[in-house]
Amino acid sequence: MNYREIVNSCYCGNGSLKLELAERLGKEYGRKLLQHVAIQAQLTVLKEAVTALDLHMGAMEMGKTCSHCAAKPDGGCCSAYMGNENNDALQLLMNILAGVTVKQVRHDGVECGFLGETGCLLLFKPIFCLNYLCARIQNESSVEVLRILEQKTATLLGAQVNLEQQLIQFLQK
Ligand code: SF4
Ligand code: SF4
Repeated sequence: MNYREIVNSCYCGNGSLKLELAERLGKEYGRKLLQHVAIQAQLTVLKEAVTALDLHMGAMEMGKTCSHCAAKPDGGCCSAYMGNENNDALQLLMNILAGVTVKQVRHDGVECGFLGETGCLLLFKPIFCLNYLCARIQNESSVEVLRILEQKTATLLGAQVNLEQQLIQFLQK
């Protein structure tokens, strides 16, 4: 694949098409990608960044706040638009490489297809989902807690972007 083909296919189309492509890439290159030392190391960095962010979110009791919010009639923020338009095949491929069973569990066009019973099914989420900080969370958290959240999110985003670049480089070979 050349760079143009990667960009034109991985970042375009609806959620199902992106997932289809991620699965195809996983089948075709998954084994080689997991044997690639630098990619393997970056996946580890990414998983550690996810754990650090999850721990902080747990301490903030964000899960509780979000469940409460999502149970209201107008629901939470994991809409079909957020989940289907903001992901891309490379980010879904990263999840597949990390051993996540990536599948769409909702098809109502209202909520994100990746929203499971207990929250997001993805280990590595679309950048927009990671960056989203609603007014409710902002109002209920101290400035220091938000600063740490932002810092841990930025670390994760940086690691995710690095892995994305490595995948693009690999696919161009
Ligand atoms: S992030 Fe904010 S808007 Fe989204 S579910 Fe949680 S509390 Fe609700
Ligand atoms: S956080 Fe997960 S479930 Fe929510 S919109 Fe993003 S991908 Fe979908």
